[in-house]
Amino acid sequence: MKRFSIVVAVLFSFYACKETPQKEEQKQVNEFAIVIHGGAGTILKKNMTPEKEAAYKAKLEESIKKGYEILQNGGTSMQAVEEAIHIMEDSPLFNAGKGAVFTHDEANEMDASIMDGKTLNAGAIAGVKDVRNPISAAKLVMTNSPHVMLAGAGASQFAKEQGLEIVDPSYFYTKRRFKSLQRIKDKEKTELDHDEKQSFYDEDIKDSKFGTVGCVALDKYGNIVAGTSTGGMTNKRWNRIGDAPIIGAGTYANNATCGVSSTGWGEYFIRAMVAHDISALMDYKGMSLKEAAQEVIQNKLTKLGGTGGIIAVDRNGNMVFEFNTAGMYRASMNSKGDMEIKIYKE
Ligand code: ASP
Repeated sequence: MKRFSIVVAVLFSFYACKETPQKEEQKQVNEFAIVIHGGAGTILKKNMTPEKEAAYKAKLEESIKKGYEILQNGGTSMQAVEEAIHIMEDSPLFNAGKGAVFTHDEANEMDASIMDGKTLNAGAIAGVKDVRNPISAAKLVMTNSPHVMLAGAGASQFAKEQGLEIVDPSYFYTKRRFKSLQRIKDKEKTELDHDEKQSFYDEDIKDSKFGTVGCVALDKYGNIVAGTSTGGMTNKRWNRIGDAPIIGAGTYANNATCGVSSTGWGEYFIRAMVAHDISALMDYKGMSLKEAAQEVIQNKLTKLGGTGGIIAVDRNGNMVFEFNTAGMYRASMNSKGDMEIKIYKE
């Protein structure tokens, strides 16, 4: 009998260990939590004016507070993510919605995705030119269509049928983004041999201040949602699609592990399957969110040559920012209402 009790006790503690990870980072810290990003890149204090910095911080604050209020009042993480992203999509500061960057052909083509960690349902749109809030179109693909991803004219048609606001493409024009495109095109015209051109192209991408937006939230019901919205990369051609609408690369959410939203050089995020990889390391290897995010961004992505970062929240409300660029526009709030807004590496 004594031996039997010992076996039961050993088995019990083994399973208890598995169920409740012992690591510091995975202790329950927040009843609910929300994180947002407004893009990662070469964001250096020396290139910022106090006015510009204040404008970014004010918009990040408005966005995170909106999401926080929804969660605090018992709203869902789905509502919080959509509303927080709307605020950044409607601002010309970020490369999403109103502030989307220009393609080589001087148009704006937007990508977005959203994922529900409870059901593992997801929705995405790619290459839309006239939907004011692409994140809402992605959400409706998830909730009101049998599909996960729609692209181009069909995605716009769907958004229109769903009653979303369709705008004239000129709505997305901003002088700042148009000038960035012209600057890159001017550089491209200079006489360079093939290798010089390639290295110029790589440097230019590395130097661009990306500006994609994203949000991850855990609500009071234990549900995690992640969403990402972007104009992609300046000077993109041939209907290029980045990581933002790719579930597993730009966005991933799973109540059992975490939710992730990415920003950075999309081609690398697709190849490294960044968002899903972080969840998988937690799932299969029992890593904490912080360990998994560090492994994927600082090791795997960096070794491949990719630049950018992620925001993430785990099922216990731990919040993580991880990036290998000089900066990332970012903010977080926990259920106690503690707010952090940051831009540079610290
Ligand atoms: N990841 C986006 C893309 O490659 C760009 C960004 O995050 O700024 O389309």
